[in-house]
Amino acid sequence: MAFTDRHGGVSRSPFDSLDLSGAAGRWLDLAQNADRVARALGVPRLTLMEQIHGADVSVLDSSNPPQTPCDAMVTDSYHVALCVRVADCVPVVLADADAGVVGVVHAGRAGVMTNLVGSTVSTMRGRGAEAIEAWVGPHVCGGCYEVPAKMRAEVAAVVPTAYGCTTWGTPAVDLGAAVSRQLENSGCRVTDVGSCTLESPNLFSFRRDADQSGRLAGIVVLKEPAT
Ligand SMILES: [Zn+2]
Repeated sequence: MAFTDRHGGVSRSPFDSLDLSGAAGRWLDLAQNADRVARALGVPRLTLMEQIHGADVSVLDSSNPPQTPCDAMVTDSYHVALCVRVADCVPVVLADADAGVVGVVHAGRAGVMTNLVGSTVSTMRGRGAEAIEAWVGPHVCGGCYEVPAKMRAEVAAVVPTAYGCTTWGTPAVDLGAAVSRQLENSGCRVTDVGSCTLESPNLFSFRRDADQSGRLAGIVVLKEPAT
């Protein structure tokens, strides 16, 4: 299990340097950066998804990417490095190492509204997962994620812990708190790895840098137990 930061890749400014977005014109950088991460994790490649802020969970049994866009992936196959890419949204990594089932989730505002982490956990349980550990990766914190009051009300109506205020006193959504609560409600043991993407110069943030922002990743891979 790992979360990347912006260091150690080949991309040049302003995407320096471990940008995993693969946006137009940056495919070559993505290939090289993903290869570096894969090698560091001891896997042949990263399995990426085309994320669309949707509600679909893909179940994979090979290292081929999902055939359709999705915002969560689950596998019980060895050496398939599931990868979620974000810049401010919440990257979630899930694992039941004993049962041998892992998953990743792209949890933004839309994902919170549909409880995508809950559906992903259900999918994992359908493959035999029981005691699931969840890691909530770097994301824009509740003190920085300013939204219109109406939007805050909409999200908080679904998950009350999402209700937040910025450090300057305006309406905000606390995505991390919302996702953590949904994970706990699904029976996961949750660890928040901390770090606000907007505040940390070591992380990519769309709110801070807009089109000049790269993407960081949450990754999980199931390895064969040593015999
Ligand atoms: Zn912050």
